[in-house]
Amino acid sequence: MHLARFPRRRYTPYWTPIEPMPFLSAALGGPELWIKRDDMLGLASGGNKTRKLEFLVADALAQGADTLITVGAVQSNHCRLTLAAARREGLECQLVLEERVPGSYSADASGNNLLFRLLGAERVEVVPGGGDLAATMQGLANDLAAQGRTAYVIPGGGSNALGALGYVACADEVLAQTFDLSLALDHVVVSSGSGGTHAGLVAGFHAAQAGLPVTGISVRAERVAQETKIRALADDALRLAGAAPGVPSEAVVVDDAYVGPGYSLPTDAMAEAVRLFARHEGILLDPVYTGKTAAGLIGLVRQGRFEPGERVLFVHTGGSPALYAYQDDVLAGAHGG
Ligand SMILES: *Cc1c(COP(=O)(O)O)cnc(C)c1O
Repeated sequence: MHLARFPRRRYTPYWTPIEPMPFLSAALGGPELWIKRDDMLGLASGGNKTRKLEFLVADALAQGADTLITVGAVQSNHCRLTLAAARREGLECQLVLEERVPGSYSADASGNNLLFRLLGAERVEVVPGGGDLAATMQGLANDLAAQGRTAYVIPGGGSNALGALGYVACADEVLAQTFDLSLALDHVVVSSGSGGTHAGLVAGFHAAQAGLPVTGISVRAERVAQETKIRALADDALRLAGAAPGVPSEAVVVDDAYVGPGYSLPTDAMAEAVRLFARHEGILLDPVYTGKTAAGLIGLVRQGRFEPGERVLFVHTGGSPALYAYQDDVLAGAHGG
């Protein structure tokens, strides 16, 4: 597997840091906790979609596209970063926003929605939850084709095999970086949503025979459905990269106990996790993804799932702009905590 053979744009001119979290580790009294700062990736406010877009946008440019079209929830980090990548490349960008929680779209909401307006999406279509998103995006692409333009459609979260290569590359980065740090990791904990991040890491560690277990904390789907999706996507990414597929089922582990009432809906455990990371380590999480994923990490530590001397890496996938759209939820009960 040699990823340099794939066309790739560069949006982050460095490896994101891997840092210890000594105060959070002490507060929880469990294993040694470390963090991979993918919230410090390039493009407007960073986050995991930047790694996927390096491969996806290179493909769009190779195909002669002048416009990127993608889809996400009403506070989508992926839409914000796709739009930022389009601006960096001199492309236009159109967004389909899925109102997964009825009534949740507001044209003048803050957070990522503010950034859609600031970065200047050419067109925004809001569709009800469960609508046919692929058909809506294809409709926009057809409108552009009728005007002689060329659209490139990126699936939700950038999570196809090509986008997942961004996290196959991240797995290599983590292995090289931890070798350099002499940091022998025992476990990785990451968010599992549209799946490209979790699947890419599993694929990359599998191809490297790293023997490094990954737990994906679901932010939306139920465990069995998510594990099936992640395993298929990991194998697709390996095939695309020219490596042998065959990720074993035991390498794909999803914990769905931290979703709460549903995607993007706040939980007490999320709010606690956001506050613990802020107050012990000065690190900003987000309410939709990393707050629930960190709640999963904290829950696993409290359940005694790791030995005291073990080293656990939490992958921070970004998302902090959404804090400004959910401020009451992350501050709820904050005075005591
Ligand atoms: C999209 C996103 C995730 C989930 O990543 P997937 O590859 O979609 O599973 C996690 N954290 C943040 C901040 C995100 O925007």
